[in-house]
Amino acid sequence: MAYQAEYIWLDGTEPTNLLRSKTRILHDEISEPPIWGFDGSSTNQATGDKSDCVLKPVFHCHDPIRGGRNVLVMCEVMIASTGRPHATDTRAACARTEKKYADREMWFGLEQEYTMLRADGTPLGFPEGGGQPAPQGPYYCGVGTGRIMGREIIERHTQACIDAGLSISGTNPEVMPGQWEFQIGPLGPTAVGDQLHVARWLLHRIAEDYDVIISLDAKPVRGDWNGAGCHTNFSNVAMRENYEAIINACEAVGDNYMKLVENYGHDIQSRLTGLHETAPWDKFSYGVSDRGSSIRIPWQVEKDGKGYAEDRRPNANCDPYVVSRMITEVICESLEPKTGKKVKKAPAKKAPKKVAATTK
Ligand code: ADP
Ligand code: MN
Ligand code: MN
Ligand code: MN
Repeated sequence: MAYQAEYIWLDGTEPTNLLRSKTRILHDEISEPPIWGFDGSSTNQATGDKSDCVLKPVFHCHDPIRGGRNVLVMCEVMIASTGRPHATDTRAACARTEKKYADREMWFGLEQEYTMLRADGTPLGFPEGGGQPAPQGPYYCGVGTGRIMGREIIERHTQACIDAGLSISGTNPEVMPGQWEFQIGPLGPTAVGDQLHVARWLLHRIAEDYDVIISLDAKPVRGDWNGAGCHTNFSNVAMRENYEAIINACEAVGDNYMKLVENYGHDIQSRLTGLHETAPWDKFSYGVSDRGSSIRIPWQVEKDGKGYAEDRRPNANCDPYVVSRMITEVICESLEPKTGKKVKKAPAKKAPKKVAATTK
């Protein structure tokens, strides 16, 4: 019997790429999805005269929607003429970084927040035709009509992720009505991105059945409403064994905070204002249990004296391959592999003395 393979990839839409997918029928004897292709001129990834882009399968799992032997196939996009990763492909660099620092065993747990919108763009729970619901307060982890909207979608999505074999670790209703969260991980830097993309795809696909739009916008409603993030929990071997390594990791992120925040998703300044459980985007801080800091160390981690830290800054619309790669680089370049102590920087070379200018 033939079966269906849904090939999924990231397109070239700016400022935030979108997921695309198409179906290939595979014959019974084929067990590994083969390389395939698509028209890159229709996805902002190629010009019409050189339109062919290649889909290279990198991760596949059971398709929980079609069931049976059908599969979902996450792909990297390659340039047909060179066989090199396409400019929109951020996974290849992430996989290289993961390999380079394999001995540190970096783990990531991503908390994907998102907002459910009606076809007209208003969030579920906001009055149709304009206006605002009662202020934030009763919605987070609430139960009951008027507090919870879209439960059926998240129930189906969660079960779909489990059936697909993804490492989903939990879900919760969020602070703004119509806003939800699911968590993927902990997994390595590349696998967490693969699985997050498949989980995002499943969410968009299931919400189609309800005419609901899944928005990953960082700040879907302006004003006194929480934005949507993708808190990134991270650890390496040393952090999972000693507390000093956690502090050193927070400080390493602090030394690079601007470089990271610039790559944490479109429109981050609208979300990281210092209000609504965020730290201002241009100030770095870390603290135990502090949801107003850039990095939070969970209280249990302080109590245990080991574990992980949470970078609260990445947006819901972030690219997980970029976020996990950059955090891995910053941590692994700054900390000793086994102990997690700070790497001693070689003393800066003295700048050559300026030769006095002879003419003005
Ligand atoms: P919050 O209290 O911030 O809402 P969540 O429970 O939503 O936290 O998410 C915590 C995430 O941290 C989960 O995805 C979990 O898999 C992940 N996590 C747990 N331990 C580790 C670890 N050692 N390294 C990285 N991530 C971890
Ligand atoms: Mn959470
Ligand atoms: Mn949350
Ligand atoms: Mn969190």
